[in-house]
Amino acid sequence: MLISNAECLELKPDHSLSLSYQDVRIEQNIIVAVGALEPRYGESVLDATGAALLPGLHDHHVHFASYAAALRSVACGPPTVHSEKDLIEQLNLAAGGHGWLRGINYHESVAGDIDRYWLDRYGPKRPIRIQHRSGRLWILNSNALEVIRNSPPDKLSREHHARLDTEDGRLYDVDNFLWELTGDSPLSVAAASQNLASFGVTGINDMTPSNNVSTCNWFVEMQAKAALRQKVRLSGSRELSEVTGSVGGKLKIGECKLHLHESDLPDFYDLCRVIRDSHDENRAVAVHCVTEAALVFALAALQDSGIRSGDRIEHASVVSPATLELLCETGLGVVTQPNFVLERGDTYLNEIPEHEHAWLYRCRTLLQNSVPLAFGTDLPFGHPDPWIAMQAATRRQTSSGRSLGEDETLTPESALAGFLGELDNPAEPRSITVGEPADLCLLKSPWHIARLELSSSDVRATILDGEKIYDSQLFSC
Ligand SMILES: [Zn+2]
Repeated sequence: MLISNAECLELKPDHSLSLSYQDVRIEQNIIVAVGALEPRYGESVLDATGAALLPGLHDHHVHFASYAAALRSVACGPPTVHSEKDLIEQLNLAAGGHGWLRGINYHESVAGDIDRYWLDRYGPKRPIRIQHRSGRLWILNSNALEVIRNSPPDKLSREHHARLDTEDGRLYDVDNFLWELTGDSPLSVAAASQNLASFGVTGINDMTPSNNVSTCNWFVEMQAKAALRQKVRLSGSRELSEVTGSVGGKLKIGECKLHLHESDLPDFYDLCRVIRDSHDENRAVAVHCVTEAALVFALAALQDSGIRSGDRIEHASVVSPATLELLCETGLGVVTQPNFVLERGDTYLNEIPEHEHAWLYRCRTLLQNSVPLAFGTDLPFGHPDPWIAMQAATRRQTSSGRSLGEDETLTPESALAGFLGELDNPAEPRSITVGEPADLCLLKSPWHIARLELSSSDVRATILDGEKIYDSQLFSC
């Protein structure tokens, strides 16, 4: 394939921009030539008409299976649902269906700490399970608990029984367990993958902490069936260390994901041991830190254990000036979510003390202090469209239009850079170079126009390993 008349975009490490008009030749899955090229006999030609050609976008923090399930789920929290009345309405729209009703994205700002009895009283008469937007908590109604308790005995171990022993129907960290027992959620894997392709995404890092060998097999199978087209870096549990290197051509094992929760921090030396053990297994760690305390704790543990290249902080939602100094000392990279400024910013402004507002989801300060920075949408807990995250990074506005952390705005180029890195080296933007995989995103306009809107509606085609996986003119292919 020859992509002719493309405005090839390249970002330098300082995110300064270089644009050049080139033709790009792809053979099999590799870029084999860039320059002034004549079409060969029989070669298919895609005329870019001077529009920008970028490396395919990489979303560095996703939960893909939850996203695939979310496409068949009821939204139970902001920005769709804001009040108890909204939630009751939303759930009862699904009253006519049968089988499991799966709700997602619940937040207590909607109706407080809802439980089994609340769901029994207000929800439809179906087995219902609702996931909190943190991803950790599931709330089940009585009907759902009964369905699960009546699962075939070979599926229900003693440990399962113990975990189901809950009066209020609120269960923590039971993702895999519910998945196995309900066997439901006909996932919309192909639709989820196609949506990502329509945003120009060619690679994802799945950061679900429970990812294990069986999830790995599931991802490989979905790729083999071509339901899931994107390249995958699979991060998650320690168990994944058993699967070495590159599993399928398109799947690699990533970081060991460590979840820290301020209310339930692990023993410091236990955490250090886990970090060292992961390093010994040749894996970097990615530590989930959404509070200042968790970040300080993680940085101290990483310093104590010894930092390995590739170790990173997920979210770094709150970075005070003192912690920034500590973070800089460690040299650790950060993968954060500027989309939360838009999506959750109004809640932050209302609930978080004012002096901390400037410390939330920082971007420009991190770059200015040479902290390696990259972005992930955290889909489906964040909006899956990386262009929305880029826009949010340049505007720093909440959905109601209030400003949050205006000193943290980025240029469109720096915002784009957050999605251009390799999956295993997220902070360094890739470029369109001979010998690189032909994973590309072609826009409809030149960059000087596209940068004004930063919208996924500007994506014309997405190419993965030399194959077009999205074409806006065909709508999908
Ligand atoms: Zn996440």
